[in-house]
This record gives sequence, C-alpha cells and structure tokens, in this order.
Amino acid sequence: MTDQIPPDPVPHVLILGGTGEARALASTLAGTDIAFISSLAGRVKHPRLPVGPVRIGGFGGPAGLREWLQSNRIQAVVDATHPFAATITRSAARAAADAGVPLLRLRRDPWVPGDTDTWICVPDLPAAARQVAARGRRVFLTTGRQDVGVFAGIDSAWFLIRVVDAPTGALPPHHEVLRSRGPYDHRSERELLRNNDIDLLVTKNSGGTLTSAKLAAASELGIEVIMVDRPAEPDTPVVSDVGAARNWLEELSG
Ligand code: NAP
Repeated sequence: MTDQIPPDPVPHVLILGGTGEARALASTLAGTDIAFISSLAGRVKHPRLPVGPVRIGGFGGPAGLREWLQSNRIQAVVDATHPFAATITRSAARAAADAGVPLLRLRRDPWVPGDTDTWICVPDLPAAARQVAARGRRVFLTTGRQDVGVFAGIDSAWFLIRVVDAPTGALPPHHEVLRSRGPYDHRSERELLRNNDIDLLVTKNSGGTLTSAKLAAASELGIEVIMVDRPAEPDTPVVSDVGAARNWLEELSG
C-alpha cells in the first residue's frame, strides 16, 4: 500500500472509493496506460481492496485534498464514493474546482419502488428514526454502523442491526447486532426477515444490486420499508456505470 502514485504514465487519476463501482473501475483500468490510485476513508477494519495502488485515510478537508491533488500531479478525479458519503463528495467538488482538475461523479442509480412495495420515503435519518418511534415494531436496521446512534433513544421497538464492523456508539435498548457483509440473496434475506418476525425495514437508498435483495424479500412478505432519500450533491457531471467512467477517462487522455 502506498500514499504516492508511481511515476510516469499519464494521466494520473484519483479514484475516490469505498464502493463496488470504485473497485470495478480500478479493475477495468488495470493494465491500461491510465495510471490511477484509489483512496479509501479507512472506516472498515478489513476493507475490500481494489486492484492497484491504494491510499487510506482522509485528506484534511477540501484544502487538504486540493494540496494532495496538486502534489501528486492528479489530472482527473472520479468520485465513486457511496451516494450517502456527502462530505467527501462536497470536498471533492470544491478541491477539484480549486485545483482546476476535471471531476466525474460515478454514482449508481437509486432504487425505485415496484408496484407491490410499501415505502415510506423520508429525507434523512432523524426523520427515519421518528417514523420508527411512531410505529414501534420489530425493525431490521440496515443503515450502517455510523448511523445506528440516531435510533439509540427509541425504546418502543426491537432492532436487528446489521453491520460490517461492530458499532461503537450508543445503541437502542432492545436490539441484536448481526455482523455480516453483502452481497445477500433473496432467499436468505427472506429467511432472516421471517425468523426475526421483522415487520419494518429501515434502509438508505443506496441503490445497486449488492444489498437490494432485502427489498424484494420485504415486498414479498408485505413488510413496510422506511427509505431514506439520498442527500443533495454538488452539480458535477454524473455517470452511473463503470464503462462510462472509463470512456470519460479515455477521452480525457486523448
Ligand atoms: P463522508 O461522511 O462523506 O466523509 C467523511 C470524511 O471521511 C471525509 O471528509 C474525508 O475526510 C474522509 N473520506 C471519505 N471517503 C474517503 C475516501 N474515499 N478517501 C479518503 N477519505 C475519505 O463519508 P462516509 O459516509 O463516512 O463514508 C466513508 C467511506 O465509506 C466512503 O469512501 C464511502 O464511499 C464508503 N461507504 C459509505 C457508506 C455510507 O453509507 N455512508 C456506505 C458504504 C461505503 P477528509 O475531510 O479528512 O478528507
């Protein structure tokens, strides 16, 4: 692992990662003459690493990222971070603009409800917590380790909390923590919901296929879903698939 990109081939590309799309982009660029480095926040203890060089840890806000782009002679940035990683996305937009470096947002499409889905869409996690508190049921909470604390004050519901790494902050009084990492399939998700008598699913609208099976299983079992909408993002050119991001980089490199 390195914090410096290898010398020479151009262009030098920074992939802001932590997602399957970022890993797929690194894989598709490996072996081409586009030199790239992937960046991870370092949140997960044992992250799935992309192929190629990787750096880990924050940059120190937009100013730190701008300096890093300049000192590493970065000529293009692909922000392939998670749709809910709003701070780094804002930081990337600011830093790339200040450094005069082209930026592309690679962001998977959101999930959309089907005819048989019962979704209650809310703008943010505190609104999701209010919905749960009002309903007080057996909840499958899949919003991620960092967001569990928002639900900690709710004692009218029981939570099955699924996380990759154990949560370190406050937890709701009635809960069980289930540590696992996707992808998940429909059958196992249905069993999990059934075995735990779940009647409410709480999720962020992450999109993608790795964790979407819970939605189909909830729909089949008639379970309501509290769906947290994505945060607003800066006005940056966006693509939703890895091939389009690669094309953009190839066009840039002439
Ligand atoms: P965030 O709130 O947007 O970012 C917080 C800070 O973490 C940023 O200001 C930045 O620190 C650092 N950071 C975030 N992503 C980084 C990256 N790829 N490389 C270097 N530094 C990064 O992000 P988050 O929601 O905590 O997510 C952290 C990472 O996990 C992201 O890379 C994201 O793709 C991945 N992820 C997030 C979620 C989610 O639900 N939020 C789900 C799956 C994966 P500095 O300001 O110091 O630069």
